[in-house]
Amino acid sequence: MIAAPAHRPPTRKSRIPNLILVGSLLLSGAVALLVATTLRESYDDAWARAERGSETLAGAAVADIDHNLDLYRFAMLQIAGGMADPAIAASPILLQRFLAKTLANAEHLTSLLVTDADGDIVASAVPLSNPTANLSDRDYFTVQRDHPETGLFLGRPLKNRLRDGEPGVALSLRLSGPDGAFRGVVVAVIPLGYFGDLFRRLDGVPGERLVLVRADGIVLMRQPSNAGTGDIGHDLSTSPALRRAIVEPEGSFVEISQFEGAERLYSHAWVPNFPLIVFVSTTVDRVLADWLRKAAVIGILTAIVCIGGVGSAFVLRREMIRRAEVEEMLSRLSSTDGLTGIANRRRFDGALAEEWRRARRACRPVGLLMVDADHFKLLNDRHGHASGDDYLKIIAQVVEECIRRPGDLAARFGGEEFAVILPETDVAGAAAVAEAIRARIEFEAGRPRPGGWFGTTVSIGVAAITPASGSDPRELVSAADRALYRAKADGR
Ligand code: GH3
Ligand code: MG
Ligand code: MG
Repeated sequence: MIAAPAHRPPTRKSRIPNLILVGSLLLSGAVALLVATTLRESYDDAWARAERGSETLAGAAVADIDHNLDLYRFAMLQIAGGMADPAIAASPILLQRFLAKTLANAEHLTSLLVTDADGDIVASAVPLSNPTANLSDRDYFTVQRDHPETGLFLGRPLKNRLRDGEPGVALSLRLSGPDGAFRGVVVAVIPLGYFGDLFRRLDGVPGERLVLVRADGIVLMRQPSNAGTGDIGHDLSTSPALRRAIVEPEGSFVEISQFEGAERLYSHAWVPNFPLIVFVSTTVDRVLADWLRKAAVIGILTAIVCIGGVGSAFVLRREMIRRAEVEEMLSRLSSTDGLTGIANRRRFDGALAEEWRRARRACRPVGLLMVDADHFKLLNDRHGHASGDDYLKIIAQVVEECIRRPGDLAARFGGEEFAVILPETDVAGAAAVAEAIRARIEFEAGRPRPGGWFGTTVSIGVAAITPASGSDPRELVSAADRALYRAKADGR
């Protein structure tokens, strides 16, 4: 197999334009991936920061509440112990002084009193607006009366009728006789304003909400709340957040708020030893607001960079392909004969020089045919140049069809003369190709053309030379020319 000679015009498309496009796509993909990963990390960070913040806040609220409830528990146990002293139990004055002294050490407490087994007030730490009130209808009383094992009990929120309806929540402790019989209760009332103040003090982040709720869903304080009422007594027993908090001792989660129906991030903590939960919550919108702004800006910039990069690569690729096509077309035109479409003289000269060198290196012969139309002038004169041109095209086509090997080259040498280079071909082989061409043209010459004219035969000069060193390809052309001349002289 003979390798395709280098003098042929380049036909292979360059891969560079496609590589540029693929490269820009890969680069854009990598940039997009990097940005997406970074945004994902900062998204996780935003959540983690929000969770940490509200968990810390819930922890701080619980610590304060726990500290005070411990104080109150201690105070009430002291009073229950004092009631075991018959001297104190029998003297309302002593009892009142004891209560007053205890109350003074219990910050925030507004009422501290003792009832008898019927719910009548026996003594109070502070003077009461209605000292004859009976408390036997209150939950903190009935629970202690009916369930001796209760211990310290936290009631429902109430309006303290001993203090003009001030909202509060009562703690109660059972008083029992030596025989275990019910003797009444010690009652301490914590004003709910204490929790409101505490939440206002702790809450530093706008949009954050703190809620203190009993495990049964009754709200003791909410900050901020509807019209600043604290939403005391509001029932959250069906709230998804409360249900989650009942089963998860602590931590954060996202749930729909029952108050406004929006998604909120909740952190919660239980008050130790009490059925009380502190919730700190923020809307998800607010948690993600900063991140969303950042993601939008970075996302848009990245999209511009990626789309711009790929777009530019696309335009560049199109331009390079167009240029390559134009170059290829120019190169083809510069080596092609305009009339017949086969190789022109320029290409013939280049190809012959190259084949000559190749043959010299390999010590192989190169064959050359010079094909010349017979009496072509006559054809032109009788039937016009247009018919002559048409017939030149036919000759060119026939010559091209008669050569088969990839290294062979048919070219228009000039005028009505054609040349055929036959690499690795000796005289006999070249003569065989020449005879095939001659015979086919003879056949074509015998066919009438539209308009009634006939073509001409051709004479062919054949030569083949194995180039010696220092020789010139013109030798081959001269030899073929001489042979052609002889053919013409011998009668065409
Ligand atoms: P011979 O058999 O000796 O070759 O006779 P001839 O008439 O073919 O040779 P001659 O060299 O006398 O004339 C060549 C003619 O070929 C002259 C010219 O008009 C014609 N010719 C050359 N190039 C073209 C061409 O591109 N188109 C046409 N139609 N005719 C051409
Ligand atoms: Mg001629
Ligand atoms: Mg001629």
